[in-house]
Amino acid sequence: MSATFVESTDGKRQLCYLSYGYSLKRKNKKGSEYWICVKSQATATSCSDLSVTVRDKHTHVPDETDKQILEIQQNLKRKGIDESVPIDHIIEEAFHAINN
Ligand SMILES: [Zn+2]
Repeated sequence: MSATFVESTDGKRQLCYLSYGYSLKRKNKKGSEYWICVKSQATATSCSDLSVTVRDKHTHVPDETDKQILEIQQNLKRKGIDESVPIDHIIEEAFHAINN
């Protein structure tokens, strides 16, 4: 499974890998990037070929919900949803659609 990159609501890039979410810590040389889990101290390094090496263990289970929300946000952006609709409202509706 390769890494996917998404954009959070505040415009920051996030790494999604095996259903764990990571926020960017720093960029390394040669196109690799250093990430830290949003919920634990686990870190990961991504390479320009989208391979990911995870260090340390997560102290929690993968969060499919977080991943779904991020994917919803990405899909909405692609569709060019009317920006005047509050994003929270859109996510809430889409989230209900998933769970029903
Ligand atoms: Zn973690």
